[in-house]
Amino acid sequence: MSAYLIEIPHPVDKIACMHAIQVFLESGSHFLANADWGCQDGEHKAWLVVNVDNKNQALQIVPPLFRHDAKIIKLVKYMKEQAAEGFKYHEANTGNLSDEPDRIIPGQ
Ligand SMILES: [Zn+2]
Repeated sequence: MSAYLIEIPHPVDKIACMHAIQVFLESGSHFLANADWGCQDGEHKAWLVVNVDNKNQALQIVPPLFRHDAKIIKLVKYMKEQAAEGFKYHEANTGNLSDEPDRIIPGQ
């Protein structure tokens, strides 16, 4: 299981806001009912963090009407000692085959 941030935008107008919020609250999904909304600050999106096995499972939580525009981001926490491990995914992109990260974290 991993944590995934799901970001679900909706149109800016009042009707779309109300509709989106209503769909989430009436979905019967604990995840959707507890989403955080940015509407009052002009950011017409809902966010939720779920713990599931993969992105597809995370996507299944999103109501079908909103799936096309949903963004799903795998979240990782780093402990200070393990921070360099997090940079290994850069190696494939940069050709960095050493154990050294291709970027230096300030203050490390
Ligand atoms: Zn809104």
